[in-house]
Amino acid sequence: MHLDTLELQSHSPGTRHSLQVLRFGRPGATPKAYIQGALHADEVPAILVTRQLERKLAALEAEGKLLGEIVVMPFANPLGLSQQLMGQHQGRFDLRDGRNFNRGFADLTDGAARAVQDTLVDDPSRNTALIRAALRACVQQLTPCNDAEDLRKQLLRLAIDADIVLDLHCDSDAVLHLYALTPQRAAAEQLGAALGAQAVLLATDSGGWPFDEACSRPWYLLQQRFPARPIEMACFAATVELRGETDTSHELAHRDADGLIDFLRQRGVLVADGTKAASAQCDATPLEASEPITAPHAGVVVFHRVSGERVAAGDAIADLVNPASGAVTTLRCASAGVLYARCGSRWAHPGKRLAKIAGTTLARSGSLLSP
Ligand SMILES: [Zn+2]
Repeated sequence: MHLDTLELQSHSPGTRHSLQVLRFGRPGATPKAYIQGALHADEVPAILVTRQLERKLAALEAEGKLLGEIVVMPFANPLGLSQQLMGQHQGRFDLRDGRNFNRGFADLTDGAARAVQDTLVDDPSRNTALIRAALRACVQQLTPCNDAEDLRKQLLRLAIDADIVLDLHCDSDAVLHLYALTPQRAAAEQLGAALGAQAVLLATDSGGWPFDEACSRPWYLLQQRFPARPIEMACFAATVELRGETDTSHELAHRDADGLIDFLRQRGVLVADGTKAASAQCDATPLEASEPITAPHAGVVVFHRVSGERVAAGDAIADLVNPASGAVTTLRCASAGVLYARCGSRWAHPGKRLAKIAGTTLARSGSLLSP
């Protein structure tokens, strides 16, 4: 294992932030996997998992079990880690401008398309090499104008040429679930099975250019742009939600790191060890069919159901108690599925998402992720 320290460009004189980059295997070896933790810096269970992963991968590397290259970023957002507001840690939004740290990554599709449009051939692996080189060059050309933009550029630079990109997050109160692109259903289900995910949510565009899609979606969009040329989905990327933000447990971190290692074995990044792959806990479902239970008015939230429960259409998920009158509004789900996440606080403002259900019958449109 090799540790690099990467200094972020500071746009504020006198301040410094740096990233730890843990490198396993020979640089340039394939397949390449890139795994980062806590881009939303207050989603700290991911940090426990990356640190467990570090120990396990170092041992596997010493045993000669690495086939590809693995880059692990134990904490991907030192800016967010340093943010406190009125005594509370704030790691999801940049306090400088309110932007979500995991939105607004660069869309490199146009730049890559311009670079390869005259050179694509009928050989898919040659096209993959051409597109990778173009994507790398596009990242280099980004010109960040603030610290968070530089962080986005540096993370993308480390990940953009990987075959596998895993972005480890967590939700407020949730069971393990993950997000990936619809055309990569098989790999997403394989990852879900390895981790014991209870929901696998697929979209071709979840909205807002989160980190995982900035890495994987250009391949999908280039396929649409050049239908006459064979273009692989050469990067599988997923956002993994490691349960809820208070689920910090050595045992769970151990188990999750083992699950990630199983997945890396199945994808040929590590030598296979002959163990049978875990069976899936769920089928993948469309993200557009994920049902948010939304507060119609302000009130105190009383849940009837907990994360991980299967619910039927029409089930009561929560009550909302009006503080001015005591009146109770019961909120019911329209779709059957797994209740995979609930909000953390028990006070709701109008429009707050209180819970999410992985269903199959709805068809939402627009931006599919929380702000
Ligand atoms: Zn997150």
